[in-house]
Amino acid sequence: MHGPGRPQDGPAGLQRCPAGSWRPEGDNGGVSLTLEQLRTVPKVLLHDHLDGGLRPATIVELARETGYQGLPSRDVGEVVRWMTGPPQRGNLELYLEAFKHTVGVMQTRDALIRVAAECAEDLAADGVVYAEVRFAPELHVTKSLSLDQVVDAVLEGFRRGSAGRGITVYALLTAMRTAARSLEIAELAVRHRDEGVVGFDIAGAEAGSPPSRHLDAFQYVARENFHITIHAGEGFGLPSIWEALQWCGAERLGHGVRIVDDISVGADGAISLGRLASYVRDRRIPLEMCPTSNVQTGAAPSISEHPIGLLRQLSFRVTVNTDNRLMSQVSLSSEFAALSGAFGYGWSDVEWLTINAMKSAFAPFDQRLHIINTVLKPGFAVAKAASDAVLRAAR
Ligand SMILES: [Zn+2]
Repeated sequence: MHGPGRPQDGPAGLQRCPAGSWRPEGDNGGVSLTLEQLRTVPKVLLHDHLDGGLRPATIVELARETGYQGLPSRDVGEVVRWMTGPPQRGNLELYLEAFKHTVGVMQTRDALIRVAAECAEDLAADGVVYAEVRFAPELHVTKSLSLDQVVDAVLEGFRRGSAGRGITVYALLTAMRTAARSLEIAELAVRHRDEGVVGFDIAGAEAGSPPSRHLDAFQYVARENFHITIHAGEGFGLPSIWEALQWCGAERLGHGVRIVDDISVGADGAISLGRLASYVRDRRIPLEMCPTSNVQTGAAPSISEHPIGLLRQLSFRVTVNTDNRLMSQVSLSSEFAALSGAFGYGWSDVEWLTINAMKSAFAPFDQRLHIINTVLKPGFAVAKAASDAVLRAAR
């Protein structure tokens, strides 16, 4: 798509900023935070796929209970190896095959309730206090459920799993960008907005399926004063990000890593932002970054070379997320631990990223503010005090 605001190459004389060429100094004096430390602080998760986070034992049990025959093995250990091997090998087909199986066992009301409840439990156990978990209802109707029944079941699971655990879990409804049901899914999302659905998303193969193909769905959501996030700038570059923002009204970008293609560094090290990158930063557009997933899909070469280092340094509205906890074998705490190891991030960095996420959530403003002031800030104050006490004792 072409238009007056179309992203251009960087200014003449400047080179595109190579990913990872920028190594910011964290605030932790070279000491990485541990997984155990990071589990103790309250965290916020905006980008997590329900069908990418099942417990392996649950997959096997649900396959038996629901009569799903497609699993490569009934052995839990074998299923784990099978589900987690493909991304390590960079085989996209096998990676997508893993989702075929998780979705395959999520076709009944009871199965959806169980998976959603366990998702909330697992996130709470990792110290997540607020999460927006997404799923594509159109993938769960191969047996007898209707789209509305799918949403009802998942929301019921979130309610059950989060009860008494100090976590709030909302749903984002995703439409598959390669299919033609996006308007229907957008209407579904709006229909369930008062029951726990807080936004609409599109996902799936990015190349060849630009966001503007689903313009009617996005315009409907906007007319309803509802929320939009779009997977963009992961498998495809700046034009996808530009369309998501300027044609489709995305309030947040799923991944958005390729925005670094619009950032240049001169021979003297001076950083220059193109018009699209400037817009994203100036408007404080949240980037839902998923470091390990980005490495596994090839959107970033490694954690230490992930553009999040540069983008955080330039104060983009960066957030840290998991994407697919099962396939990538990550938790939100482990993602922060990896970043702390790569960039030296300390408590102030993790708190900044966490408050960024809470500010960017689709929950009402007063709820966001309440969580920031009564949960996040006190939680990080405790963690910082504990670290300071350890440092004083060591002197
Ligand atoms: Zn995703």
